[in-house]
Amino acid sequence: MDILMLGTGSAFAKTFYNNNALVYSEGRTLLIDCGHTAPRALHRLGIPLADIDAILVTHIHADHVGGLEELAFQYSLIYKTRKPLYVADTLVSPLWEHTLRGGLQQEDNHSLEDYFDVRPLREGEAAELLPGLTAELLRTEHIPGKKSYSVLLNGTFFYTADMKFDPDLLRRLVYERGVKTIFHDCQLHAPGTVHACLPELLTLPEDLQERIRLMHYGDDQPNFIGRSGKMTFVEQHKRYTI
Ligand SMILES: [Zn+2]
Ligand SMILES: [Zn+2]
Repeated sequence: MDILMLGTGSAFAKTFYNNNALVYSEGRTLLIDCGHTAPRALHRLGIPLADIDAILVTHIHADHVGGLEELAFQYSLIYKTRKPLYVADTLVSPLWEHTLRGGLQQEDNHSLEDYFDVRPLREGEAAELLPGLTAELLRTEHIPGKKSYSVLLNGTFFYTADMKFDPDLLRRLVYERGVKTIFHDCQLHAPGTVHACLPELLTLPEDLQERIRLMHYGDDQPNFIGRSGKMTFVEQHKRYTI
């Protein structure tokens, strides 16, 4: 599979777009998370919304779901289509009731299903989202009291989305489940209260660091190039083969 980040910025970054990804498999495209900057990033890259075949949401924060209202309206009004929307079963109701309903509810449209082909995912159960692309949601810690998920793609590529430092999970994934590549969110400065921070990630053994690429970083990321141990930074708008 290939992956291209629409953005690699933290929730507060201004020089980077939101940390959202396009994953390509067998000629089809999955959008992982759709923050408020996603429509602008797609426009900048010249990628029409029609090219997205399915959407996966990891958790409910504006840098991950803030662009869904626009996609819903564009797919409904302009493209006349309902795209598959994969989301944890626990988040289907909150996504509509707490985030999207305010903008999307209208006379004939009363639910998320009126805009998307909603496909709930169960934690720990791999599902085929596109031909040749399976995804398994793993519940990971991000904000106390908030459900948030990371994604294991094709059993070998771990995409954290947003999570706190969890070295035991990373070890299990690499040593027991055969994960080869990890795209990890990275707050550049300590303390890492709701994200892993770079000083924490630098405590990992080198053989783990070599598998990790850093994303979801702040605007001062250029100051940290060459200071991330064996880990390298993912660059937005660059396509990587995994
Ligand atoms: Zn985020
Ligand atoms: Zn978040």
